[in-house]
Amino acid sequence: MDRRRFLTLLGSAGLTATVATAGTAKAASTGTFPGYKDSYGVLHDTTRCIGCRKCEQACNEVNKLPAPKAKFDDLTVLEKTRRTDADSWTVVNRYNAAGLDHPVFRKQQCNHCLEPACASACFVKAFTKNPDGSVTYDGSLCVGCRYCMVACPFNVPAFQYAEAFDPLIQKCTMCHPRLAEGKLPGCVEICPKEALTFGRRKDLVRIAHDRIRQNPGRYIDHVYGEQEMGGTAWMYLSGVPFSATGMNEELGTKSAPEYTAGALGAVPMVVGIWPILLTGAYAITKRKEKIAAEEQAEAVKQAVAASRAEADDKLKAALAKADKDKEAAVTREVKKAVDEARKTFEEELAAKEQPEAPEGDDAGKPGEDA
Ligand code: SF4
Ligand code: SF4
Repeated sequence: MDRRRFLTLLGSAGLTATVATAGTAKAASTGTFPGYKDSYGVLHDTTRCIGCRKCEQACNEVNKLPAPKAKFDDLTVLEKTRRTDADSWTVVNRYNAAGLDHPVFRKQQCNHCLEPACASACFVKAFTKNPDGSVTYDGSLCVGCRYCMVACPFNVPAFQYAEAFDPLIQKCTMCHPRLAEGKLPGCVEICPKEALTFGRRKDLVRIAHDRIRQNPGRYIDHVYGEQEMGGTAWMYLSGVPFSATGMNEELGTKSAPEYTAGALGAVPMVVGIWPILLTGAYAITKRKEKIAAEEQAEAVKQAVAASRAEADDKLKAALAKADKDKEAAVTREVKKAVDEARKTFEEELAAKEQPEAPEGDDAGKPGEDA
């Protein structure tokens, strides 16, 4: 579904709910997410980027992400256009723009929108726009609906499809934990060409326009992200039209909450009917999955118990048979011994009962003369 249409639909759903909960409706406004005037951001100057992928490596290491399929010094991955996924929160792509004799590289990650569409679409409020400018996600609140993925105009949130139980959304955090420690985002710190500049967003806007002004012909006269979707914390400079590096130039300047004002600005999320229904639906799905897993575990347990009982029975039968065989063998041997003893006794008795012949009595012996 088209994102703009998705956000508009959320707005319509909210208007429906507004009617049902008119008594609790507040004035619709685009100020769903208060602005943080001193928030930070990053300026990505694509004219400086050399596509070395060091930022990808730093992101992987800092966030302890799984080992990459291809090593970070393998630049053949640039032959294909990639997008961020659950294991790669940032990727660098190469573009061949018309009229240029060299490629252009652009780093992608969450743009940390000033008024994030992901947060607008998330009815359990798993996303937070922080005062430091980062947009972070709390997996413990997530019900797995993936509305944030549909809503994000930059195709950023990624789902852990490979996780069998409780898969989560994954995305760049702008190194929110590092910022809290006074450190730079990992990618900014490592970039060897200063293609990434970290700073207060308002200063970055000024720096970006200064660069454009001071380097005639080097840049397109536009700072991408300054206004798009109501503004983003990550902004871009480019020497070629932004669409030539895969960026959407049709987003307009309207922020996500303006599309979803009916759903999010006018209706408190906790009392809206549709979020409850949707939450219920996903809760039921999750419950079903849990029950299925429990039933499977119980079936395995029963199968193991049945096999064990069968093995026990077989062992008992074998032991009983062995006992019986042994008893029969003993009986046979005893009987044999008794028979032999009886036979010997009878032979001896017979020998004793035989009359002895008188001494010197030769009468009747054949062949002898009288
Ligand atoms: S780029 Fe997408 S995921 Fe990041 S803050 Fe904006 S809407 Fe949310
Ligand atoms: S580290 Fe810097 S120069 Fe290298 S790919 Fe990333 S943004 Fe570009």
